[in-house]
Amino acid sequence: MTASPPPHRGVAAYLVALALAISPLSGQPDTTTPPSQRTADRNRLDALDKAWRSGDFATVTATLDAAWETDRNWALSSSRNLATGDLISARPLGIAQLVAHASATDLAACLAEFSPSKHKAERRTLAMLAVPAFASQNEAALPALVGFLLRDQDRILRAAGASVIAASKNAELAALLLPLLRENPAFKPSWDGDEEDILQSRCYGAFEAIWGVRPRSPTEAAALKSLPTLAAAQAPAKEPTPEPPTRLLVAEQIRGKPYFSINHFMVSFEFNKGRSGDPQMALAIQELTSSQSEEMAAAAAPIFGPLFIASPRLIIADRSRYSSVGGNSFRPGSATGNQIALLESLPESMAATVRHECVHVYHGASFEDQPRWLSEGLAESLSASTDQSVWTAAAIRQRNFDDELDNGVFAELVGWKGPASSGGREARLYAMAHLAVDYLRFGPHAAPEARLHLFMAKIANHESDRSTLEKLYGGTIKDVDRALAEWARTR
Ligand SMILES: [Zn+2]
Repeated sequence: MTASPPPHRGVAAYLVALALAISPLSGQPDTTTPPSQRTADRNRLDALDKAWRSGDFATVTATLDAAWETDRNWALSSSRNLATGDLISARPLGIAQLVAHASATDLAACLAEFSPSKHKAERRTLAMLAVPAFASQNEAALPALVGFLLRDQDRILRAAGASVIAASKNAELAALLLPLLRENPAFKPSWDGDEEDILQSRCYGAFEAIWGVRPRSPTEAAALKSLPTLAAAQAPAKEPTPEPPTRLLVAEQIRGKPYFSINHFMVSFEFNKGRSGDPQMALAIQELTSSQSEEMAAAAAPIFGPLFIASPRLIIADRSRYSSVGGNSFRPGSATGNQIALLESLPESMAATVRHECVHVYHGASFEDQPRWLSEGLAESLSASTDQSVWTAAAIRQRNFDDELDNGVFAELVGWKGPASSGGREARLYAMAHLAVDYLRFGPHAAPEARLHLFMAKIANHESDRSTLEKLYGGTIKDVDRALAEWARTR
């Protein structure tokens, strides 16, 4: 086994090493590449090396972006080599380049070529982030691409195939999902959060995206093909039609409890005696939650890929019933991949809580076995720092966070284990997790979204959060903590 290279060894030095191994630069007389091209190659590698070493990732990305225009073959093979090369910290850059520029055929060729065992996380990141690129293929090419993904031995690649079908809104292709279907996870009592649950959520999410209804079983899903799709129903009619009647919400039973189908959720109410949920209440909850859910899906998509998932249950409970459905009475919400429980409270605080809990649902429907700090950090970061970090030097001072920065935020967080609890320590851990994920999203990294996806995919693949952080974010955990502190104090 060879030792990993230092994370910040120049990316171009790495590309040069590859080029030496495979090209006429190795000293053999080059009879194919004109000298001007060789000079251009060297200049590009020099520019890449300089920018990478100085942490100027915008220039690294711009240089690679430009290479796709001038020398597409070089850009494709370099990106492919980076995506699975020894320099782990450069892999997200290679993946992001492929997602941004490679054709669907080239992306599929990369997935076929990357090792399903050695580069499992890289394949998953590439497949999930490439869903929009696959879905934008013309209809003639789609069946082969989707078939390729759905036949993969890795459930997460099959899940990506389901999301390609959802994103393309192709009702014909949805039939390919029928043999994969088991029970709709949104109707299951509990969420295991394993790869099968993730696959089922993505498969049922595709039917929901295409038809706008939620089949419970393979039989119900198969019956949808005789119904008009959402797109057909929303197409403007040639003849003026009368205003559609106001949608009436009818409760359906899930394990003996009434649920109303609203945008993005199936909502139910748990109140103490004397009060029960009704369609008006369900519509009021829809008003409160629909846009929050959509905003969180949009904020998460650059990191997670598009989020066509089976809509979860949403249980609104009053204080007397909340602990029995929420499980954790210290916070006003709780979530698993297929259910959110919310404590009934003021609309603004319920809206903020539903944003946080939606992120847990999206996270759970994408990755298994995630550490608590990363789950809470993502939920806080995406819900509160949606477009940019709310952490500034002033916020650090105001919250008295200097000790946390000096002692090391990540070093503390990777040890955050155990169940939810009350108290100031827990609140500070949430805040630290928020700051940490803000740093991963907005800090000085090349391809931050693909990097964070790959980080989560590696953790889901049973690699430790600590060592993966070190490999992807540079140096030891102390180095990462120092870089985070510098970033936070200079904003
Ligand atoms: Zn949470």
